[in-house]
Amino acid sequence: MTARSEQAKHRLYLEHALGQGQVIDLSRDHAHYLFNVLRLSVGQHVAVFDGQHGEWQAEIVTTGKRGGTLRCLTQSAPQCMPPDIWLLFAPIKKARTDFIVEKATELGVARILPVQTEHTNSERIRQDRLQAHAVEAAEQCGGTYVPQVADLQPLSRLLDTWDKTRALIFADEALSDAPGPAPALPPAPAAIIIGPEGGFSPAERARLRKMDNVTPVSLGPRILRADTAAVAALTLWQAAQGDWA
Ligand code: SAH
Repeated sequence: MTARSEQAKHRLYLEHALGQGQVIDLSRDHAHYLFNVLRLSVGQHVAVFDGQHGEWQAEIVTTGKRGGTLRCLTQSAPQCMPPDIWLLFAPIKKARTDFIVEKATELGVARILPVQTEHTNSERIRQDRLQAHAVEAAEQCGGTYVPQVADLQPLSRLLDTWDKTRALIFADEALSDAPGPAPALPPAPAAIIIGPEGGFSPAERARLRKMDNVTPVSLGPRILRADTAAVAALTLWQAAQGDWA
């Protein structure tokens, strides 16, 4: 057996500070997943991470119907923080919103901020469900960081208190008519903003364009759906200024 194949196949995000020898009490849901769904038992290993202390190989110490315990053995990956890039987007249909959160987590973002714009259809989001999607995406992609998903907030309020030292990259569909060369994107700290299916209102566009430290960008000559636009913009930024180098 190679060293690689001895490593646990399953990864779990735990809201519990991890470290050498640390013993962790499992939640009912995690116990159910490990012992009933995956059918793992005492002595078997799982990879765990807490978003701050890297990834650890943990051994199952006790199992039960409603709980169980793990013990951290060795660190198997250092903590890897994403670049300081945020994604602001206007929630769209449920499955597409879930997709945006999942893909943003995989591509690497520090925070995800759903914003309500004038043409945003949804009045509310299930923040807890979106956060769970970010956790699942991090577990699946080998990441050691889970971006925080904020509650839905009005775009106007967010812009009122915007920290001008954070560059705002404004994906402006109006620029699809005159795409030109790929835009020069500003470095971190930065945020990308993607509009809803109905696009930004003229007032929102005017306000964004007037702000300091805003870079309006085109994402090419076609109008992309918001979920595609989020993935495309993050990809461009990660390739130019992010941690893909
Ligand atoms: N209904 C609008 C399009 C909205 S597309 C219209 O017909 O004009 C959803 C969001 O994706 C937009 O608000 C923008 O942020 C982004 N987007 C889509 N295509 C884009 C492009 N070619 N350039 C820049 N941003 C784009």
